Amino acid sequence: MTATTDPIDHHALRLKYRQERDKRLRPDGNEQYVQPTGKFACLLDDPYTPHTERAPLRDEVTVALIGGGFASLITGARLKEAGVDDVRIIEGGGDVGGTWYWNRYPGAMCDTAAMIYLPLLEETGYRPSMKYVFAPEIHGQARRIAGQYGLYDNALFSTQVTGLAWEEETSRWVIRTDRNDEIRARFVAMGTGPLHRPKLPGIPGIETFAGHSFHTSRWDYAYTGGSPEGAPMEKLSDKRVGIIGTGATAVQCIPPLARDAKELFVFQRTPSSIDVRNNHAIDPEEFAKLSPGWQRQWVFNFATLQTGGFADQDYVKDGWTDIAKRIRDRVVSELTQSGGELTPELIARAYTDSDDEKMEEIRARVDEIVQDAATAAGLKPWYQQLCKRPCFHDEYLQAYNVPTCHLIDTDGKGVERIDETGVWVGGKHYALDCLIFASGFEVGTGYARRAGYETIGRGGETLSEHWSEGMQTLHGMHVRGFPNLFILGMTQAGNLISNITSNLAEAGMSVGAVVAHALRVGAEQVEVTAAAEQAWVAMIENSNQSFLGNPECTPGYYNNEGRPIGRREKLNAAGYPGGPVAYFEYIDGWRRSGAFEGLEFRSEAPPAPTSQQ
Ligand code: NDP
Repeated sequence: MTATTDPIDHHALRLKYRQERDKRLRPDGNEQYVQPTGKFACLLDDPYTPHTERAPLRDEVTVALIGGGFASLITGARLKEAGVDDVRIIEGGGDVGGTWYWNRYPGAMCDTAAMIYLPLLEETGYRPSMKYVFAPEIHGQARRIAGQYGLYDNALFSTQVTGLAWEEETSRWVIRTDRNDEIRARFVAMGTGPLHRPKLPGIPGIETFAGHSFHTSRWDYAYTGGSPEGAPMEKLSDKRVGIIGTGATAVQCIPPLARDAKELFVFQRTPSSIDVRNNHAIDPEEFAKLSPGWQRQWVFNFATLQTGGFADQDYVKDGWTDIAKRIRDRVVSELTQSGGELTPELIARAYTDSDDEKMEEIRARVDEIVQDAATAAGLKPWYQQLCKRPCFHDEYLQAYNVPTCHLIDTDGKGVERIDETGVWVGGKHYALDCLIFASGFEVGTGYARRAGYETIGRGGETLSEHWSEGMQTLHGMHVRGFPNLFILGMTQAGNLISNITSNLAEAGMSVGAVVAHALRVGAEQVEVTAAAEQAWVAMIENSNQSFLGNPECTPGYYNNEGRPIGRREKLNAAGYPGGPVAYFEYIDGWRRSGAFEGLEFRSEAPPAPTSQQ
């Protein structure tokens, strides 16, 4: 990439960023999106697995894992390793994989390096083919883990959990599903994911479109032709296709759409930042040289560098570590030059200067690649790189040089309206055969709405009630009043958003250790103490480790769509104050000590509380 040589006018950039943000601020925030219900409910149907009838189940398992994505798979694997065999995955999709089951859109891949993103590489002996791998290979790893650890054996697929309730008399969770199952589980781990419920833009007239439409997370290959493996979508060769959205998903599916559609219209509200990807094959000889324990070492190395720490080597070397290393090096050089103190102002200035430099490079790259000057101007992002999910791609910008691929830039306003035959922008109508919604997934909405069921704990309290003022947990996992329940996520824990699975790896190990211990000591109930939960929440409240960023940012889910960020939003998004590496080290020590500090292991139910705990 060409480094810019012109001095940057940081003040002018601040003004430009502010103007671009202001254009996009809207009073409805998250409410601008509509849920896939009513006419749109069919957008949630599973296009990949036919629905087959089966008899309802009435039985009991030791551990139920809700969701079949990496969170549950890693946890299932750790439980099996710990000798807990009676484990059942319950999953709405027709197979394991979670996000990688649903997201089969053309070009889908993960732009976190496979060596650290794909879980359990050492345990499964699998060598990723490329530095960044496509969705089918990621789904393959999910299937490999499930196969190797026997997690298919007892699994229920195409089964949506509809309710989860604690039964105090038996110390069991009762799980109800849309198949009329009633399953009792001694322990439940919820791996329902942070970004999985598709949302649609609340554009006037959206329900009137009479052509074909679908959401990217349910790609309709029957309509488009082609395959997730990359076969051309031959059925689009006579179709005018529109796509709404230019986030991380759209960036990946626009190149194949531009290649295959008769005409492609990309309706853009805010451009993504597109950094270099530089994908390449993983060398088998180099891979063979890695010594046992390498994956955890790589994960820690990435997390260290990505969060501004120091390491002798950068194993992953990508766009994620690049920005963080630039900021870190600038802080060090300013400190050395000035001989001064490490103040918050110095860190903020180093951050802004490095980011400005990085974003100038990203904008210069648009000019280098995109031939049409007006299109190039429209594709330039005017915000700090971490205001939105950074994207890394080597064919996206190039797609706009295909004569039949048209950028319809709405200059921050979004699509005006939709009618039976197409889309309106700036008073102009675009007739379409097919409209694809690359409009993302719910973030910041209520937990039960996203999970698709409510969780009822001791004394009838729901998880939504317990969390009405924000998440309250120990380690993002244990919740007071919800014994034997584990939340598998990253909030109030490591919170490393650049490599989600590393958070899940830690969660899985914790559940494996806690459940094995409970079974060993014959505990009927495991529950966080009220004091431990309160102390953890108080610590998280004072943490500045949150993906919910700067209100100066252009709106998006990284800043609550530009709406105020209060205590509730903070608790729902923040992580361990010391950052991911400190958390991973802390939780490793917590598990190893064997004391499981903050948890109570009880051989029978506690007496009913006499006063509020
Ligand atoms: P996003 O929420 O990131 O993007 C939604 C897009 O829809 C945005 O471009 C948004 O514009 C646009 N949009 C919304 N409403 C309108 C409207 N009325 N008119 C025009 N455009 C509109 O969803 P994605 O599915 O792209 O990505 C979701 C997340 O999934 C990512 O952030 C990432 O975490 C993950 N992901 C990760 C990948 C990986 O490689 N690891 C790949 C793909 C996804 P605006 O920006 O203005 O709001």
